[in-house]
Amino acid sequence: MPELPEVETIVRALRGELANRTIADIELSRSDIIHGDPRPLAALLPGRRVRAVRRRAKRVVIELQPSAQLIFHLGMSGRLTVCPRSSPVESHTHLRVWFTKCDRELRFRDPRRFGGVWCFSGGDEHVGRRLGELGPEPLELNLRGFRRIASRGRQIKALLLDQRVIAGLGNIYCDESLHGAGIHPAWRADSLDFDQVRRLLRSIKSTLRRAIRSKGSTLTDYRQANGREGSFQKYHRVYRREGLPCRKCGTTIGRFTVAGRSTFLCPKCQPARQTQKPNRDRLPFTSRSDIKGKRAAKSRNVEKWKSQKAKD
Ligand SMILES: [Zn+2]
Repeated sequence: MPELPEVETIVRALRGELANRTIADIELSRSDIIHGDPRPLAALLPGRRVRAVRRRAKRVVIELQPSAQLIFHLGMSGRLTVCPRSSPVESHTHLRVWFTKCDRELRFRDPRRFGGVWCFSGGDEHVGRRLGELGPEPLELNLRGFRRIASRGRQIKALLLDQRVIAGLGNIYCDESLHGAGIHPAWRADSLDFDQVRRLLRSIKSTLRRAIRSKGSTLTDYRQANGREGSFQKYHRVYRREGLPCRKCGTTIGRFTVAGRSTFLCPKCQPARQTQKPNRDRLPFTSRSDIKGKRAAKSRNVEKWKSQKAKD
């Protein structure tokens, strides 16, 4: 299933191909993949210009002018490609979008149909509501925000997979990031100490950035917008490497079920039990107001002590 790096790769390519193009016409073969505005796409889209192409979590958002948004969710097997109009149309191509003065077209293909297309017109408020259920983008998270997320009493992997908590990670990049940070996926998030939380955020960001540089991971269905495969699967350290030696320590990679998902990990780099006592080094989460409150209390105590001393 395409995750953040795969969708980001597609978005960057589409941005180059589609920016400022005006939609001439569309061809829709399956109307049950379309959600949002009930009016037919053929009436809504022609004449609108592509203002921007961006990513939110695992979704591709095409902003149109006059105000409309076309959002693609790739699901399990969805592909979004730009190709010459003359190239043969593969089966399960549900939507084709043509542009004026352009011999290339956008195609959405999804054999398993877990994905879909959302069209909204007339302002950002609809999209805001639709995309508002998603948590923050991991590449934009700071340590403070991530510590707040990691203060919850849930399994760390289940937490990272929850799109309402943090958006864009799936099975591949959760397993790779947890291995990079030396954290067992079944540990409770709130048992992680300060260093582990910091290491995990760094590992998530560096894993995602490296994956984007390699144009994502192609395991089965994912293709870039030009139809080519990604190459990050060659650099996976644990994901789908069951029985192979860990690239860090040589121990055999195992496969388990954590958070209801197939999970790959190195039993040595990611021990099942924390070797140190949980919470020992953990600093309680302190907000700015907590710090201010403590400072105020401290100065009150000093004042009290001074007045006591003056009385003596
Ligand atoms: Zn290892």
